[in-house]
Amino acid sequence: MQVDELTAQERNYLDKIFEALTIVSEGDYVFVYDFTHKIVRFSRNFTAFCGMDSEYVSDPAALVSKFVHRDDVSLFTSYIQRIEKGNVSDSRLIVRFLWNRERYVPCTVKAAVLSHDGDPALNGNAPEYVVGSINNHGIQPLMDPVTELKNQYALFEDLSLLLKEKKPRTVMMLGLANFSHYNNDGGYSFGNKVLTVMGRALVEWAGNDNSRVYRLDGPRFAIISKLSDERVLEEFQLLRKQLKDQLSVESHILQVSLSCGILEIEDFKITVPTIYACLNFAYSRSKYDQQGNGYIFRDRMGDGARLSMQKLSAIRSCVADHCKGFMLYYQPVVSARTEKISGAEALIRWGSAEFGLVPPVEFIPVLEEDSIFPELGRWIFKKALTDVLPIVKVCPDFVINVNASYAQFLAGDFVSSLHEILKETGFPPQNLCIEVTERCRLLDLSLLKSIMVQLKTLGVRFALDDFGTGFSSLNILKALPFDTIKIDRDTVRNVVDDKKDMAAVHCITDLASVFGTDVCIEGIENRRMKELLQADQVTSFQGYYYSKPVPLPEFQEIWQRQ
Ligand code: C2E
Ligand code: CA
Ligand code: CA
Repeated sequence: MQVDELTAQERNYLDKIFEALTIVSEGDYVFVYDFTHKIVRFSRNFTAFCGMDSEYVSDPAALVSKFVHRDDVSLFTSYIQRIEKGNVSDSRLIVRFLWNRERYVPCTVKAAVLSHDGDPALNGNAPEYVVGSINNHGIQPLMDPVTELKNQYALFEDLSLLLKEKKPRTVMMLGLANFSHYNNDGGYSFGNKVLTVMGRALVEWAGNDNSRVYRLDGPRFAIISKLSDERVLEEFQLLRKQLKDQLSVESHILQVSLSCGILEIEDFKITVPTIYACLNFAYSRSKYDQQGNGYIFRDRMGDGARLSMQKLSAIRSCVADHCKGFMLYYQPVVSARTEKISGAEALIRWGSAEFGLVPPVEFIPVLEEDSIFPELGRWIFKKALTDVLPIVKVCPDFVINVNASYAQFLAGDFVSSLHEILKETGFPPQNLCIEVTERCRLLDLSLLKSIMVQLKTLGVRFALDDFGTGFSSLNILKALPFDTIKIDRDTVRNVVDDKKDMAAVHCITDLASVFGTDVCIEGIENRRMKELLQADQVTSFQGYYYSKPVPLPEFQEIWQRQ
C-alpha cells in the first residue's frame, strides 16, 4: 500500500507514534513500521543517509535488499521476524546500511512491537507497529588516538567539503614499507612511537599544519596539499631522501622507506570513495611497481584523466547498485589440435548511455584496489556460471575461464562465497577454471595456496594468466598447483618474424611439461601464427583469428555452428 492510501486516522496514528519516538529516542534515526499496511516511516536524516526518495516506504522488503549489506540481509530479516513475534529479549542488531549509495556503514538497530491487544507473543495477535531506533557507528570520532592526527573519516569529510566547495587540491597517500618489522621487533608500543614520529615528520613537512595530515589504516598517512601534483611529486622525492636514514625513534635511527600515490582533484563531479580508490591504486603502483617512487594517478590516464575519474565514479556506484551496466563477453578457447571450441574466457565490460561501452582496462586495475571489488567479483562468477551452464549440460568437457583478482582472494570469504555460488547455480566445479595473474605475488603465497587447494579438492581448475609478462616468476609456478599456463599475446606478437618469440614459447612449453600443466596461447591473430605455434606442445589457442570476445547470444551461435 502507498502512504496516501491510508485513512486520515491511520496516517495520524503512524505520524503520532513517530513523533513520540523521535522525542524519546537516543538513536540517531528512528522508524515506525505500520505492520497492517506495510508502510515504514523513517527519520528524514536516515532517508538522506541512504539516499532514499521519501520518508515513507511502502515496500520494506525491496528496501532491505537495496540498502542492507548482502551478508546482513538474512540476519536482519530474521531479527525483524523475531521482533514481530514479540521476542524482544535480544532486541538489538548491528547491520551495515548503504550510505549515500557508496559504502556500507555499520549501525545498531533496536526495535520493539506495539499492539493494541497487548503482547503478541502471549495472545497470538499480529503486531500493529514495529518501532525502533538506528544508531550510526559510521559517525566516528575524527581523530586517531595514536598519532593525534585526523583519521580516515576526517579525510573523507574534508574531501567531501572540497568537492562541495569546488576547491582544487592534490591529495597524497604515503606509507612506510616493512612497518610490521617495527611491531614484531619492538612490540606495539614501539610501532606506535614510529607512527607518531612519522606523523610529526609529515606535519613538519606540510608546513606545521596538522589539519592537513591524516593517519589512515596501518602505516599509511594522507596529506591534502595546495600544490600541483607535479610539485608534490618533486617535494615527495626530496622527503624520501631526507627521511631515508634519519627517522630517530627512542635512540634508534630507522631506515624508513616511503611509497606515495598522488592525485590532483580538479574535477568536482566525482565522489569521495572514487578519489580514495584512485589514490589507493596510485599508492599500490608506487609501492609494488615503482620501488617507492611517487606515482601520479594522472600518468596512466593521459589527457582523459578527468573523464576517467567521472567514469570510475559512475562505475563504482553501479557496483553498489546490483552491478548495473556490467556485462560479460565470451571469447572462445579452441583446442590447438582440432581447433574446436573447448571452452571460453569470460571478459567483463561496462556500459552506460553517457559513457558507451567501456573496456576492462579502464576500470579493473583501479577497482581491484577497492574494497567493493569482491562484490563485483561475486557477480562475475555467478553470471558466468549461470550463462554457460546450458552449454556444460550438453558438452561436459566445456571449461569456462573466469578471471579473479588478487583482491578477491584477500577478502577472506572467497572459498565459501564461491562454494555458495557453485551450489546455487548447480554448476559442476570441474568445468570452472579460475585465471589468476602474476599480481597474485602481492599475496602471501601460502594463503593463495590454501585457497587453491581447498577449491581444487572440489575439482575447480586454476590457470596462471599472462605468463611471460610483468613479474611472472618460477616461484609462483613452483609454489602453486596450476593446471594451465596462459602465454600472453605480447610474448607471441612477433612470432612470425622474430625467432626470439618462438624461443620464448619453447621455453615456456618445456617448463609446462616439467610442471605437468597445459599451455594456452592468447592473441592468435592469423593463420600463420597458429600454424607456427601448432608445431609446439600447446594445448589450446585463443585470439581474434578464432573470434573476438562477444556477447552470450553470439557466442552460443558460434558454438552451435562449429
Ligand atoms: P586478459 O585476462 O589477459 O584477457 C585477454 C584480453 O586479450 C582480452 O581483453 C581480450 O579481448 C584480448 N584479446 C584476446 N585475443 C586477442 C587478440 O587476438 N588480439 C588482441 N589484440 N587482443 C586479444 P579485454 O577483454 O579488454 O580484457 C583486458 C583485461 O582486463 C583482461 O586481460 C583481464 O586482465 C581484465 N579482465 C577482463 N575481464 C575481467 C574480469 O571479469 N575480472 C578480472 N579480474 N579481470 C578482468
Ligand atoms: Ca585472463
Ligand atoms: Ca591473459
